Amino acid sequence: MTGIFVYSDQVSLACELAGFGKSAGAETHVVTTDEAAATELKSCGADVVHVLRGGDNPPPEAFAGAIAELLKGAAAELFLVGATVRGRELAASVAGLLDWGMASDVSGLSYSGGTLAIERLVYGGAVVQRETLPAPAVATVPAGLCEPANGSATVEIADVVPDSRVQVVGTEPIVRQGTSLAEAERIVSVGMGFNQREDLSLAEDLAAALGAEVGCSRGVAEEREWLPADRYIGISGLSVKPQLYLAVGLSGQVQHVVGIRETKVVVAVNKDEKAPIFKVCDYGIVGDLYTVLPQLTQAFN
Ligand SMILES: Cc1cc2nc3c(=O)[nH]c(=O)nc-3n(C[C@H](O)[C@H](O)[C@H](O)COP(=O)(O)OP(=O)(O)OC[C@H]3O[C@@H](n4cnc5c(N)ncnc54)[C@H](O)[C@@H]3O)c2cc1C
Repeated sequence: MTGIFVYSDQVSLACELAGFGKSAGAETHVVTTDEAAATELKSCGADVVHVLRGGDNPPPEAFAGAIAELLKGAAAELFLVGATVRGRELAASVAGLLDWGMASDVSGLSYSGGTLAIERLVYGGAVVQRETLPAPAVATVPAGLCEPANGSATVEIADVVPDSRVQVVGTEPIVRQGTSLAEAERIVSVGMGFNQREDLSLAEDLAAALGAEVGCSRGVAEEREWLPADRYIGISGLSVKPQLYLAVGLSGQVQHVVGIRETKVVVAVNKDEKAPIFKVCDYGIVGDLYTVLPQLTQAFN
């Protein structure tokens, strides 16, 4: 067997995965279905960039069969896929077609001697599960786990036939607010301790004073629908790694705090001194957010 193959519909994530392949000392191949992305992909640590061309811009999932053929033909060792919505779908299809083992959404990975060692968070993030998979295997990997590298890859273009059963029947833009939380240096995160949507302006004012983005707990996004779903943090939401995470009116349940593990400094504001967030924060303010936030905003303005 030879070579680590990687894919992501996000170029930056594909580059991170290519960096992992290079650091593992393996011949590294990036697969893309987007010819325009090849220019960027060829300079981030891979040896070869495979551009799979097929028809009128079909979705990546339609290339599962073609990618499986490519991996089989090259006797690939690993197929690492960026853990995006599309990537997860594609990875599962490829693993199924090749009958390879698969680990989804790993939180850590290493590869040597034909064995992929991974970590995954289970039981809502309360437990880290360690597993080893013999190569060949597939894993989906979220952004931020691997470092991109430098290099100059050769580009190989192949015309393939995508699966015509997978088609895009319509598109709708996602309306995003602010910059991506995954890249934010500072986050003010709001929880169910806020009484009404309008009160989030207190957090927005503090965020503006700090140059921070506003995030939230799942309930704020999914139950109350006060913020978009791409703003919530935790095991089923985003993992973030800011320098500063200010959790306001947020209890700090394990499903939430698992998403802020990589944060440098966590500050909590909660009126309940027994709230679990005080066990994981670096600095805590026991107090009513309606009193504390205006004071903080004033102090930072
Ligand atoms: C399978 C599964 C997956 C999940 N995934 C996620 C996830 O990805 N992300 C996530 O966030 N949650 C997730 N949850 C939900 C999670 O378990 C918690 O229910 C949720 O995080 C709690 O949100 P919260 O802290 O905003 O609300 P609460 O737990 O209701 O906490 C509100 C806090 O606000 C404080 N408060 C109230 N009023 C004030 C005030 N005036 N001033 C100051 N403090 C005040 C209270 O003391 C309390 O601590 C998941 C749950 C399950 C079962």
